[in-house]
Amino acid sequence: MTQFTDLGLAKPILKALTAEGYVTPTPIQAQAIPAVMLGKDLLGIAQTGTGKTAAFALPILHRLSEDRKPAPRRGCRCLVLSPTRELASQIAESFRTYGSGLGMTVAVVFGGAKYGPQIKALTSGVDILVATPGRLIDHLGERTADLSSTEILVLDEADQMLDLGFLQPIRRIVSGMSRKRQNLFFSATMPTEIGKLAKELLVEPVTVTVTPVSSTAERVEQQLLFIEAPRKRALLAELFESSKVSRALVFTRTKRGADRVAKYLEDAGVSSGAIHGDKTQSQRERALAAFKAGKVRALIATDIAARGIDVDGVTHVIQYELPQTPEAYVHRIGRTARAGAAGIAISFCADDERALLKDIQKLTRQTIPAFDRRNDKVLQAVTAATTSGPAAEQSLPQAKTRGGGAGANGPRAAKPHNHRPRGHEGKPGGDRQGRPEGRSEGQRSGQGAQRQGQGRGQGGGQGGQGAKTGQPRSIASTAPVAKWDPLKA
Ligand code: AMP
Repeated sequence: MTQFTDLGLAKPILKALTAEGYVTPTPIQAQAIPAVMLGKDLLGIAQTGTGKTAAFALPILHRLSEDRKPAPRRGCRCLVLSPTRELASQIAESFRTYGSGLGMTVAVVFGGAKYGPQIKALTSGVDILVATPGRLIDHLGERTADLSSTEILVLDEADQMLDLGFLQPIRRIVSGMSRKRQNLFFSATMPTEIGKLAKELLVEPVTVTVTPVSSTAERVEQQLLFIEAPRKRALLAELFESSKVSRALVFTRTKRGADRVAKYLEDAGVSSGAIHGDKTQSQRERALAAFKAGKVRALIATDIAARGIDVDGVTHVIQYELPQTPEAYVHRIGRTARAGAAGIAISFCADDERALLKDIQKLTRQTIPAFDRRNDKVLQAVTAATTSGPAAEQSLPQAKTRGGGAGANGPRAAKPHNHRPRGHEGKPGGDRQGRPEGRSEGQRSGQGAQRQGQGRGQGGGQGGQGAKTGQPRSIASTAPVAKWDPLKA
């Protein structure tokens, strides 16, 4: 089994990895790191939770440190494009963590934040720039950024870029870059448009495919509750009566819905925050930080806002409303199965959502077990799995949450905090700067339907959580699936 120490990474990087508690590379890391270290282009078919950030950050840091030169003025040596601000921040945090012993400079540029500090960082040049496309285009237009000397380009979550209407902006950004550069391209799925973009950007790439979309669905324990829409709120609050639901991400379809649910839960005594495109950047950051720190038990989110959010120890993902696209269902439940850990996903389904459910079950090739609301045992059933099963203990050994680290974030399953004073979060509404960039969430939501789940049924069959513990953790765990089991690795 390959270890990080076998890969030839610079010593300070290995030291940072040891400090993070990372010993064994995930499959995408084991395959991608050597190729990227050699300067090759890479096509990575992988979703978040596979360790893909380190798969590109580690070899990039290595390459830049082996060939030290001053960062170009107004530019960067490496540009990482991310679809959302949250993901951009997390990627920058990862670079800072892994590169802490290298003295590399890292800057983040995204919409909704002040221009001043971004211009200041860009003026002197940085080694690594992480940016969302819209704001970067603004900087290029104002000539406060210049990418003509950038040596490495990373495009992360390309399929999400497509959903957000960022393909043209990306082409514009790339047109100002030198052709002599290394390109790394990551996408969870490969719809036609994304395949086309990959072909345009990549030169003889090494292709790495891991964790097919459906295997997330197989790793997460899923529950379905048929419930009339007006009764959802009360049922949701009831779920939080179980202390097992200690850190839950709740998905709603609309921004207003997210606010309403957060308010209802607060009124019911469940500490909650909301995160969506109408929140200001600082409101979003505050809500996410409170959730990460275990200060709020429930984070109510829309799909776009939650995309790429990397919070360890999410015990439950609750789909208050089913998403418009089945891919979004898989992305949602993946929030509770970070890097090989198991989790529980509970979905509410009203009568008018049955068609959506059908699409989801088709994509995941699973029938989600349904519980009957009239059965008194239902709440016990949907929340009990964390008590008996190994899910609660199954987290990465010693691995830390990005940035803050395990010490800063406390135990993975945070204690419930029911009595947070009201008014902690920013008010709903506010300016519209808080959305990722570009279009409204409403405009975006339908577009994912163009995408097709791909890459299913591939991979190494390394055994799942169930295999490790002897207890099947998911309804489909009998099927051989490609997934990374950190406990086995
Ligand atoms: P990502 O797919 O980049 O979003 O990473 C998912 C999570 O896995 C993050 O919380 C990382 O900190 C964690 N992680 C990444 N690589 C490793 C590794 N080799 N060992 C343990 N944890 C890891």
